Amino acid sequence: MKILFITLFPGLIEDNFSHSILKRGREAGLIEVFSIDPRSFTKDRHRTVDDTPFGGGAGMVLKPEPFIAAIKKARETLPDAPVVMLSPDGQTFSQGKAVELAKNKGIIFVCGHYEGFDERIKAFADMSLSIGDYVLTGGELPALVISDAVCRLLPGVLGAFESTEAESFSDGLLEYPQYTRPAAMEEGEVPAVLLSGDHARISRWRRKESLRKTLENRPELLREVKLQQDDGKLLLEIIKEQMKAHG
Ligand code: SAM
Repeated sequence: MKILFITLFPGLIEDNFSHSILKRGREAGLIEVFSIDPRSFTKDRHRTVDDTPFGGGAGMVLKPEPFIAAIKKARETLPDAPVVMLSPDGQTFSQGKAVELAKNKGIIFVCGHYEGFDERIKAFADMSLSIGDYVLTGGELPALVISDAVCRLLPGVLGAFESTEAESFSDGLLEYPQYTRPAAMEEGEVPAVLLSGDHARISRWRRKESLRKTLENRPELLREVKLQQDDGKLLLEIIKEQMKAHG
């Protein structure tokens, strides 16, 4: 996967790919990272990339010419890669979108700053994505969030012992609780079923706890989940347990 960041601050990108799993993926040649700085397409002495908004108001708007030139250059470099603009008014990023993006051989991210993009830049992107209903100072963190979620889906990036299969959102549910050694400590004991070696019971427990967590933390997700045969029974058990716990 070749990932190209159009950013005024290329230094923000590099460090993210220099540690842990992404570093390993990069060293294995599975991930390649490039940056283009729109400032290098400016023609004035001050290398100006922003200007005051027409109509008045606070802040500075990113100028169209250097960003459009940077996007054109990026498209020449990665002709088949979708151009993803980061913007709070874009569609909300999700695991499903990560899966879609991971099917590409490359991605071009366009990171905004200050008051954001001149609207005319948006016509040069294939999509606009937001990482949530809040406003950050720049598009670099959102682009890194998205590229992280995408890169870990690429075959070979996660090691044999890491898996995306049973993770939160992979089947529409949140992931069940995980435990490691020690099995018992002052702060609590690992549920006995996980120590039983009985794979059928463990699998039932995990499914039930996934359902419980989703019901408690993100009930709206259950509307979209393809429920399995025993899920109704498990949900009923959970609701009975909740009613008992609350008297
Ligand atoms: N004036 C813009 C607005 O109200 O929508 C906000 C601009 S924000 C301060 C500057 C840049 O940060 C944006 O152009 C975008 O690239 C990035 N950004 C900020 N919050 C974001 C979010 N939630 N998702 C994606 N990008 C975001």
